[in-house]
Amino acid sequence: MSKPKLAIIPGANCAGCDYSLLDLGEKIIDVLIATEIAYWPTAADLKLEDLEKLPDGSIDIVLFEGAVNNDETEEMAKLARKKAKNLIAFGACACFGGIPGLANVASRDSILQKAYIKSLSTVNQQGIVPYKITKVDGGELTVPELLETVKSLDQVVKVDYYLPGCPPPLKLTADALVAALSGKLPPKGTVFGSMKSVCDDCKRIRENKRITEIKRYHQIVPDAEKCLLEQGIVCMGPATRGGCDAICPTVNIPCRGCMGPTSESRDQGARMLSALSSVIGLEGEAGVSDEDVRKLVLQIKDPLGTFYRYTLPKSIMRRVWGVRE
Ligand code: SF4
Ligand code: SF4
Repeated sequence: MSKPKLAIIPGANCAGCDYSLLDLGEKIIDVLIATEIAYWPTAADLKLEDLEKLPDGSIDIVLFEGAVNNDETEEMAKLARKKAKNLIAFGACACFGGIPGLANVASRDSILQKAYIKSLSTVNQQGIVPYKITKVDGGELTVPELLETVKSLDQVVKVDYYLPGCPPPLKLTADALVAALSGKLPPKGTVFGSMKSVCDDCKRIRENKRITEIKRYHQIVPDAEKCLLEQGIVCMGPATRGGCDAICPTVNIPCRGCMGPTSESRDQGARMLSALSSVIGLEGEAGVSDEDVRKLVLQIKDPLGTFYRYTLPKSIMRRVWGVRE
């Protein structure tokens, strides 16, 4: 009997999701024995043509990692869909746009200007920015062209399953692979993760305290037992899907939200603002003035990057013009 075929196809990624597969340890050997790796360019010298020549619908499981940010990654996303029986958005970038999605605070032109002309470490007196085709002796060179807006995978093609995280937690990756390889995948559209929030898995003590000051993580040594949010550190746990065993708060680091919104909310940043409003006493607390709230909120550095670090392209806003032009 032929083995199920597995492919790991990259979009705009950092390869962290690839490396997380290697963290499966000895279990990766089981995966390699149980499957035929049809395409994994990070691990083997495979080219685009190798993927193109595979028959459509012939790959049982495709893990697509990374966002879609240029015409090349858009082509990879479409190819992944064409070749896959089951397409899994693998990691926060594929699921929600992730870190590359923060580019949606500026236009494509201003990003190119900043990266290639205006940055302090750049000397580019001719003001040249990359463009699609360059004529050279005897031919043409092409580079991928940035899209105006960074997208999640499902904003380009239909996605069957979501496996969030940055990178995805090992246990969830193992669960998804076992389900896929044993032919026991859940209904399409399933997100591998918990139906609850990170707070539900977090063992820190919550006292329903109101905070009077918001601090950055490096400004205090937090109490190791108590809720970080109630110590004034913005922890995205209330707004973030669980399934990671609250690994960051467990080691004294605030949750940054890489598992995306909870099953009950669509917009992670809006949900976090609501959670924050309850700890700063906005919800019906006497003695909290608008000025008190304003002062507190202004203490949050980079609110957009804090509340939408991984999910801006999938948020209600999707992109914000002119924030960082
Ligand atoms: S989800 Fe995280 S680890 Fe995976 S490609 Fe994106 S930034 Fe890298
Ligand atoms: S806000 Fe953070 S530290 Fe507090 S309970 Fe939730 S996950 Fe834990």
